[in-house]
Amino acid sequence: MKPFSIYNTLSRSVEVLKPLDPPTVTLYSCGPTVYLPQHLGNLRSYLSWDFLRRALELNGYRVRHVINVTDVGHMTSDEDEGEDKIEKTARAEGKSPLEVASFYLAMFQHDLAMLNAEPPQVWCRATDHIPDMLALIERILAAGMAYVTKSGVYFDVERYRGTNQLGKLSRQSLAEQNAGQRLEHSPDKKSPHDFALWVLNRPGHLMQWDSPWGRGYPGWHIECSAMSMKYLGETIDIHTGGMDHIPIHHENEIAQSESATGHRFVDYFVHGAFLVDKSGAKISKSAGKFPLLSDLSAMGLDPLAFRLFCFGAKYRSELALSDEGLRAAQASLDYLREFAGNVPAEAVVPEDSDFATRFRDQFVEALNDDLNTPRALAAAREMVAEANRRGDRKIWNTLEFFDRVLQLDLQKTRAAAQSTEFPAEVQKLIDERAAARRTKDFQRADRLRAQLEAQGYEVKDGRDGAATYRRRAR
Ligand SMILES: [Zn+2]
Repeated sequence: MKPFSIYNTLSRSVEVLKPLDPPTVTLYSCGPTVYLPQHLGNLRSYLSWDFLRRALELNGYRVRHVINVTDVGHMTSDEDEGEDKIEKTARAEGKSPLEVASFYLAMFQHDLAMLNAEPPQVWCRATDHIPDMLALIERILAAGMAYVTKSGVYFDVERYRGTNQLGKLSRQSLAEQNAGQRLEHSPDKKSPHDFALWVLNRPGHLMQWDSPWGRGYPGWHIECSAMSMKYLGETIDIHTGGMDHIPIHHENEIAQSESATGHRFVDYFVHGAFLVDKSGAKISKSAGKFPLLSDLSAMGLDPLAFRLFCFGAKYRSELALSDEGLRAAQASLDYLREFAGNVPAEAVVPEDSDFATRFRDQFVEALNDDLNTPRALAAAREMVAEANRRGDRKIWNTLEFFDRVLQLDLQKTRAAAQSTEFPAEVQKLIDERAAARRTKDFQRADRLRAQLEAQGYEVKDGRDGAATYRRRAR
């Protein structure tokens, strides 16, 4: 079997993963700024990192995953200007910044749980890590790569990079990188490209902490460097984020981290593509109205249909959100669950039928080839189709193995479908219906059938008068 490989933005090529300390893989994902609900585009990117993590685990790696939570310092522009996003919502909703952040973080974590995304080992909030950020800023100052002014501590980008050097990640010069952007040139900054590590003298800002340079708050970029180093060490294996992070946020993370430590910050930078609407525009918060996971339930879709919808596209390709696409994913989910729900006990054997091996290999090969989830999904579907064609359902072990990454609750589906025990209130309806049929009260029997069906049960009346009841595959 080929080893796991992934596209590294640093080298612009697919590379075989060589973790620093196998079997551990350290994985840092730039997390959400918690000032609004996370829309489906945001959720898509965390699902990609869940696929990545589970694919690594399938390869025997032990993944240590950290996601940060930005609850201070992310301004309404990705530069240092504008208003703090959390504080803007706090003012609008009449809440404290802490309340706003906790509320939207809980909502995000709930959505991830609905999508069967494994929680990271560490969720770290920026406001809990101010001392770590201050210590890192001191190191950057000691290395001569930052300077203190009245308005803040700034990173000296030109000193670090030189005027004509290209960025390690973006491969753009500073001029190219900022072309078309209106950079606010604070008179305190040596260059408009310099960015704030610590912001000073903003009396209107609600969240402020003491620092060696005066009261203030951290810049957005420094939090990721400080927290990833704290939990994962000074060099991490994989750092993920959206493609929009490449030119500024991640370039700045590299600059400040490598200035402080003197060595490589990240071995593999992995970036995900956007979820777009029908017109091809990125789903974003700035667009005003944006789709949420809760909107899908209103359409009668299972949250895991969205998981499967995302799995059906490659993480590096744009994915267009459409009703048809979501419904097709729901149909695919139903197809796999229907099969799982109908695997009889005698088909669950220690060794699956031979033909399953071929699909198992295809599934792993696809994931190991730069996380090619659509090809992996095709292998899973084809295996089920083949089992149906052959009338040979001895593929349960392989299907369960696939579900370690797919996470479609196939095991639960089968257990529920096979269960002959019903919850007490369901058993009561079944008994009442049996009584109604005995007394030939068919109207009442039909009403009870409708009630059972509404609760997710399949009702089959046999010719001999006996009825069978089964929990439907969800
Ligand atoms: Zn980050």
